[in-house]
Amino acid sequence: MNQIVKTWQQELSEGFSNAQELCHYLDLPPNKNNILYSSKFPLKVPREFANRMEKGNLYDPLLKQILPISDETLEFSDFNSDPVGDINAMKASGVIHKYHGRVLFITTGSCAINCRYCFRRNFPYQDAQLSTQKIVKAIDYIKKNTDISEVILSGGDPLLLSDKKIINLINELDKINHLSRIRIHSRIPIVLPSRITSELCHSLSASKKKIIIVIHSNHENELNDKVKSACEKIKQSKATLLNQSVLLKNINDTSDQLIALSEKLFFFDVLPYYLHLLDKASGTRHFEVDQKTAIHLMNQIKKRLPGYLVPKLVREQEGAKNKIIIA
Ligand code: SF4
Repeated sequence: MNQIVKTWQQELSEGFSNAQELCHYLDLPPNKNNILYSSKFPLKVPREFANRMEKGNLYDPLLKQILPISDETLEFSDFNSDPVGDINAMKASGVIHKYHGRVLFITTGSCAINCRYCFRRNFPYQDAQLSTQKIVKAIDYIKKNTDISEVILSGGDPLLLSDKKIINLINELDKINHLSRIRIHSRIPIVLPSRITSELCHSLSASKKKIIIVIHSNHENELNDKVKSACEKIKQSKATLLNQSVLLKNINDTSDQLIALSEKLFFFDVLPYYLHLLDKASGTRHFEVDQKTAIHLMNQIKKRLPGYLVPKLVREQEGAKNKIIIA
């Protein structure tokens, strides 16, 4: 029998958006789990990612990243809607300029998955649509600031844009002589690997700039054969592949889990880059691992891994001129 191959757009539209339906699929009792059935930041998860969760296990580390629970409604004075000061650092439509030589361009407000710990879960994305006018303004800002050597495409998830929009944007950036690098931050290779098509990789390889793709994986269970094949395609486009993770309570906060993640990433040809302390976005406090515990974990990891597999432990601080490297 012929297997029907779905496009990535079909996979995206058929993902779970209802907690009850997801619980049923995962053989979990829907009513006993502290689940939030309605949230301004709704449940969203591709089926392919849900397939990697263990059925019947409410503590599955992938499920815990995406299942809305009532802890998100608790308020804490040190957690807020803009924890890293993105809004104050917005210079032109969608362009965030915090660090020397680099700007971040918000290309879309959409993601393939809604991660409960997301630092932009409360971000005002109304203006996030990638219009021609928005590109013109952003390109104009980058052209005028000749010390910018790197543009970071962010969101939302920039790889959710159509190939046409990505190609158009890269073409515009290619024309700016003082730019050396285009960095793309995306969780798509992890959560919707079918999006990494040959056509997309071809357009990346056609760029005159050095392309860096930072994937966002937090746990080794996320890394299956489909993710491996997506990473291989990206590598063939000659892009550099890095990973950054967020340190998340009861998800990846043991040295064994972090080591297993680094080892598997390297097997996929991806270098572990950053391990972030949680940004204090409202609704995410239950994911927080304190700095002292994080440093202790890093010390354990360093004893067991070669240096190139040890990510830098960092945190972002509003107003700081760079990420704060803790260990
Ligand atoms: S993919 Fe990234 S931007 Fe999107 S919800 Fe997850 S952490 Fe946030």
